[in-house]
Parts: sequence; C-alpha cells; structure tokens
Amino acid sequence: MPELPEMEAWRRGLDEPVRAFAIAKAGPAHVATLKTFDPPLSALEGRRFEGARRRAKRLYFPTDDGELVLLVHLMTAGRLKYLRAGEKGPKAPAFRLEFDGGAQLVLTEAGSKKRAGVWLLTPEQVEAELAHLGPDALGLGADALGEICAREPRRLHSLLRDQRAIAGIGRAWANEILHAARLSPYALSKELSRADVERLAAAMDAELERGLELRERGANDAKTYRVHNRLGQPCHVCGTPIARVDYEQHTVYYCPQCQTGGRVLKDRRLSRLLR
Ligand SMILES: [Zn+2]
Repeated sequence: MPELPEMEAWRRGLDEPVRAFAIAKAGPAHVATLKTFDPPLSALEGRRFEGARRRAKRLYFPTDDGELVLLVHLMTAGRLKYLRAGEKGPKAPAFRLEFDGGAQLVLTEAGSKKRAGVWLLTPEQVEAELAHLGPDALGLGADALGEICAREPRRLHSLLRDQRAIAGIGRAWANEILHAARLSPYALSKELSRADVERLAAAMDAELERGLELRERGANDAKTYRVHNRLGQPCHVCGTPIARVDYEQHTVYYCPQCQTGGRVLKDRRLSRLLR
C-alpha cells in the first residue's frame, strides 16, 4: 500500500497539472469506486481545482470556488495518473476526469477487487471524513510522539500503523522507521525512555523524508526499502541477515542485531495458540 512518502510524492507531482485547466468531464466511475452520489460528479464540470492536497494516505482536490472537494483513497492497489493531452491511458479506468484541452486524471486498480474509493464532498464533509485521523507522521516531533506513546500502550509496530494515533505510516515504513530508531517492533510504547522517543521521532522524519526524496525521483520499492521485504539480506548497518516475523496479519521485517539485541522474535499469533 502506498504510504506517506508515496502519496506525498504523487501529491507534489499532481499539484500543478490539476489546476492548469478547468474540468471538462468528471466520470465515468466504476460503481464500486464512487462512494457518493449527491452531488453528482457532473457538478465538477466547468470548475477548476486549486491543487492537490494530502491527509495521511489520502489525496484530495478542492475546487477553487471553495464549494466541492474530490477525495481519493487508493487503498492497496489503486494508482492515480495524470495523462497529458493525447497521451494513451487505460481503456476502462475505475475513475476518469477530463480537463479542458484533453489532459486526464485516471484512477486504475489492479486486480478484480475494487477497494479504492472516490468521494465528491463539501469541505465540511471532508473535514468530518478525515476527523478520525491522528496527526501527520512527518514533522510530528518528540513531544507529540511522547504523548501518543504514553496514551496508547501498544507494541510499536502496531502503534505506528494505527492511523487514528499517527497518520501516514503503514507496514513498510513502520519496518524502515523502527530499524532506523534501533527499536524492536514488539517494544511497548509506554516503556520507551525519553531518549527512545527522541530517536523514534527523528527516525520517523529521516525515513519519511528519505522515502519522499526517492519516490519523487521515481525510485522503485527495491531501491527505496532497506529492511522491508529483505528477508535474509544483510542489514545495511551491521550485516546481520534481516529476519521476519508474522504479527497481526502483517509480516514484520527487522534486524535481530540492531533492534532486538540478538533475540529472534516469535510469531505472536502462533505462540498464543500454543500457550
Ligand atoms: Zn543490523
């Protein structure tokens, strides 16, 4: 699933193109993709976007008259693409929006399951839709992170992925961030020292910035991740083979030297069953 660095790189790439021209035609959208029906998509026609915005892993596009907002959640397999006039695109995208002059914004989704969504909302509705999200992970800072850790007694991998607590991080960047902070994915948030919290806050910013910079240059997953999906490959810090453990329906990658003091983590689902 695209996370904060991927979404922010897309937002930056889309910000100028989407406001270059007025909207000529909004839709069609796949019946499972469009989540709202009133106002209809045609209400966008003739208006202009004021740019691309991001909140957590969602992108949204407010119209410059302040009346409507197109909100997009790509989920796991959705991709948003801007096609210049005349540029070839997919035949049947999940959602299509055409600008004056022929450029298009298209949403595609790999696989048969339609999970990505498009909403046409008022600014007030968008605010309500996004109200459950915690503060953005990028630039959160040690003080705010310390408060969240004290308030939410959880294992770190799970806490970092909880969008209500901290917004924008998923399983891939949770792996990268915890490795950079030299913290175990199973460490308990409320047991962190002030120094641990400061290291974690610094690692969040450094890793998300690193990811954003790479994604803006078009780097693929293999060039971007140093821990995630790298089972058995040498840790880039100490050379120990990267290990993995299944936890809460997720596969967690970590370095048993840098992060857990040589201990191998147990699959908690399995050990719970056997206990
Ligand atoms: Zn290591």
